[in-house]
Amino acid sequence: MAIPSNLVKIVDLDKHVGKEIVIAGWIWQIRKQGKLIFIEMFDGSTYKTLQLTVKKNVLESPDFSDVAGLYRGASLFAKGELKEDKRAKYGFELLVKTIEILHPSAEEFDQLVPPDAGADTKLSKRHIVIRGPRTSSILRLRAKVLQYSREFFNSRGAVEVTPPTIVEAQAEGGAELFEIQYFNRKAYLTQSSQLYLETAIFSLRDVFCILPSYRAEKSRTRRHLTEYTHVEGEYAFMDFEGLLDYLEDYIIYVLKKVKENDKELLDLFGRNLEIPTKPFPRVTYKEALEILKEKGIEIEYGEDISDAPERTLVEHFGVPIILCHFPTKMKPFYHKINEKNPEVTNSADFIFPGLGEIIGSGERETDIESMLERMKSMDPPLNPDDYYWYMDLRKYGSVPHSGFGLGLERFVQWILGLDHIREATLYPRMLNRISP
Ligand code: ATP
Ligand code: MG
Repeated sequence: MAIPSNLVKIVDLDKHVGKEIVIAGWIWQIRKQGKLIFIEMFDGSTYKTLQLTVKKNVLESPDFSDVAGLYRGASLFAKGELKEDKRAKYGFELLVKTIEILHPSAEEFDQLVPPDAGADTKLSKRHIVIRGPRTSSILRLRAKVLQYSREFFNSRGAVEVTPPTIVEAQAEGGAELFEIQYFNRKAYLTQSSQLYLETAIFSLRDVFCILPSYRAEKSRTRRHLTEYTHVEGEYAFMDFEGLLDYLEDYIIYVLKKVKENDKELLDLFGRNLEIPTKPFPRVTYKEALEILKEKGIEIEYGEDISDAPERTLVEHFGVPIILCHFPTKMKPFYHKINEKNPEVTNSADFIFPGLGEIIGSGERETDIESMLERMKSMDPPLNPDDYYWYMDLRKYGSVPHSGFGLGLERFVQWILGLDHIREATLYPRMLNRISP
């Protein structure tokens, strides 16, 4: 089947008004009225559809009845004259002369994902769900967030690297690791590329990566996947305050770009993005416990602030906050101990209203003795030999440095106000879900 050389995309329609054009796509909606057929055509170039008007006395081929027999999902080329029409959903109408049916779609298309389908059906049929305006818009916005992120990091001179995601040892360890068989030995899927990024600052100074991280999350929440896209950065000669400043700039850069360039996508989701202003409120872990206590939520010093209290805390401020200086005993060995108060680390989570943590970050420890001691005291203890290459960073010319990890899907979820993180990725991986 020959592809017409002059295909026009729906996103470019305004340049072709009054001309005869050919467009390629799928039937999103079809309505038959006697000698008239209205087709809403979707072509994937935008969330917008184009109204095709098929009149029996204008259509040259195929037979009117062949078009009338089509169902949603059918793929076709449609040729005709493009007109502006205020009554059409997006202001354009194609008066169709010829249609070339590429592949029909079966009648049951509509039943695959009925409007009242439950979450599980929607996930099993996600390859169908991604067709069409809503989900394609989420995926498009996600791509924009990736693009703006890279723009920001590149503009600040950071170099993109791609560390391996199959690893031998993991700093956080624990129950969230996926173990795999690697030939005749054990290996793991990475939870974070941080340690490798730290090695790379000695080569490239400022580095970032955008790669999958894996967490065997057994809890079911609205913001956990087992595989997610981790945006991470590490920066040489950057202290804690420098890091928070950099991350505020990053968040503001991306949100401003989205607001400037992708307003239509935001409107589709009814989002009026409020751009936070610098500095974001800084709330120490200790202060957070006090605020929560006033609200009747008791958390023991040293305990995690879990999902729900985290949201209560950020609701108190109504804007993204930086929850910082977690107790030393709560945090892995690589978090820098605060110089003035060794009880706490120079660590910070960025907490967003309605969602919770989107960034985990901190200044990295450079004192090898303190690191060794903390590795030993972990449960189970970490063997420094497994991290010989990481310890070498501290032996041979360490420098003050800081870094962060952001969950791309959580960021997209927050920007669009999505109820569940599973909508912010092409094919979510969760406790009971690995297909499609
Ligand atoms: P949480 O407490 O929400 O599980 P975490 O403390 O385990 O988060 P980090 O280890 O600091 O998270 O990872 C850095 C970032 O990666 C988080 O701020 C979050 O945006 C993202 N992230 C972590 N776990 C997941 C997950 N299971 N699914 C999606 N994103 C995640
Ligand atoms: Mg976690």
